[in-house]
Amino acid sequence: MPQHPSRVALVTGGTSGIGIEIARRLTDDGFTVVVSGRSRARGDAVAGDLGPTARFIGADLTESGAAEKLVQACVHQAGRLDVLVNNAAIDHTGVLLDTPDAEIRATFETNTFAAIACLQAAGRVMRRQGEGGAIINITSRLASIGVPTMGVYSASKGAMLALTKAAAVELAPLGIRVNAVAPGMTNTPLYAQWVSEQADPAETARHVASAIPLGRIAEPADVAAAVAYLASPGAAYITGVSIPVDGGYLAQ
Ligand code: NAP
Repeated sequence: MPQHPSRVALVTGGTSGIGIEIARRLTDDGFTVVVSGRSRARGDAVAGDLGPTARFIGADLTESGAAEKLVQACVHQAGRLDVLVNNAAIDHTGVLLDTPDAEIRATFETNTFAAIACLQAAGRVMRRQGEGGAIINITSRLASIGVPTMGVYSASKGAMLALTKAAAVELAPLGIRVNAVAPGMTNTPLYAQWVSEQADPAETARHVASAIPLGRIAEPADVAAAVAYLASPGAAYITGVSIPVDGGYLAQ
């Protein structure tokens, strides 16, 4: 039985990796899911796999006004909006003291400014609908800890962790819950590519897993399960939290 009949969820970055799995899980839970991203080819394929109720809406969220247009198109096509999963992001690695300004700005444009704009646009729709809603920001374990060469990415995600708490407090009177999910290293095509490029891929994979208390990296489905919970009525009294999905890494 669908848990959420006639509820609509928008998943940004739903054309790849973790976003695909979040979209699949929310579809399984009965949401009408709208996925977004820049790649129409991948987006149409994902929506096709999800089934007849799913839709893809293309958007480059770094373009001016893109978040508002995306949310309006979502409401136009799916009728309403109940859940936003702010998942679209880019990775950045670089020596902090030598990182060019343009790279810092590009990272923040996608990971922070676009995500804030999506939260604003979705929140306005939820306010107008008058039935509350759930906003889930996908951050990272790196929002909370320091790792060399990941400073700019960490800062872009740390800002979203701070916003999660601030928005949760400000939007609570509207019944809009705002939470974060902070994945650790997750088994996506990006991770597989990174491992394959190391001198000894098998040893690198072993080393990464050995630093995690539960002894393995996350699967996208692990992250999707936390998102599904925060989107569900079972989380009705939960707002302003960040759920680490990192096998205990942050607990060390
Ligand atoms: P991914 O496979 O690289 O997917 C990123 C998604 O973001 C894609 O769907 C991409 O869509 C979209 N995107 C990027 N720039 C965009 C833009 N300007 N406009 C619209 N969409 C854009 O990433 P992932 O590994 O699944 O990561 C998903 C989330 O988890 C991210 O927030 C990431 O920071 C976080 N996370 C990942 C890991 C990990 O180990 N993988 C760990 C911690 C946190 P198009 O390509 O179609 O544009």
